[in-house]
Amino acid sequence: MEKIRKHISFSELKIWNECPYKHKLVYLEKVKEFKGNEHTAFGTAMHHVCENLVVNSKADYKNLFNTKFLEELRELKNNNVELNRDLVTSMRSQADKMFKHILPSLKKTFNEFEVVSVEEGLMEELKKDMHFKGFIDLVIKKGDTYHIIDWKTCSWGWDTKRKSDRMTTYQLTLYKHFFAKKHNINPSKIETHFALLKRTAKKNNVEIFRVTSGAKKTENALKLLDKSIYNIKNRIFIKNRLACTSGYGCEFFNTEFCKR
Ligand code: SF4
Repeated sequence: MEKIRKHISFSELKIWNECPYKHKLVYLEKVKEFKGNEHTAFGTAMHHVCENLVVNSKADYKNLFNTKFLEELRELKNNNVELNRDLVTSMRSQADKMFKHILPSLKKTFNEFEVVSVEEGLMEELKKDMHFKGFIDLVIKKGDTYHIIDWKTCSWGWDTKRKSDRMTTYQLTLYKHFFAKKHNINPSKIETHFALLKRTAKKNNVEIFRVTSGAKKTENALKLLDKSIYNIKNRIFIKNRLACTSGYGCEFFNTEFCKR
């Protein structure tokens, strides 16, 4: 039974952009939901640490991480996801090395700042019965400028191509646009950043870099969002065969859900 969508998130938009048919399988038919893995459990636990650390520098980050990580791993086991024990063990020691870099990296990039919000929810109206839904990891304010920060866990880091990838950076473009709309703030007073939490890097384990989004880029991101909503509402689900085997490949490739 397909559900009628009343909101769209950036993750949804990203999947729709990859392949509209995949969007239908994942979000409308929910035929085979991705249950997560060690990497998503690690990401959730690290986000939990970051959220707490920015509001309480004395927070017991090890305990926060271990409790959340264990909770996530248990959930995966309950969902019959097979776990790689060696990877889980190495993730624990990698996290340990990362914690001490989180606050110093924020301090180094922004010096003095105030925390405006953590995990701030967005539910902004796009049109009748359709909202943009999102969660902004961290908003800080320095002087009269707001800084939106999105934590990303990764292995060694991102190369230049990934850092400037249109679709990747549209996340911050849209967060900036809807945060400005929600609070009635001039977008020129908002800057956006990704903060990479790098598991396997030898140094610079937390890297914060700025992503710019001007009027044209914002207009393009909104056009893409609008196009996706139009197609979803009108049940136009074209198969993008170019996405079947690119990157890590599509989980539905040559399955009963999407045969050639
Ligand atoms: S297998 Fe290819 S066409 Fe089918 S959902 Fe995945 S990306 Fe789309």
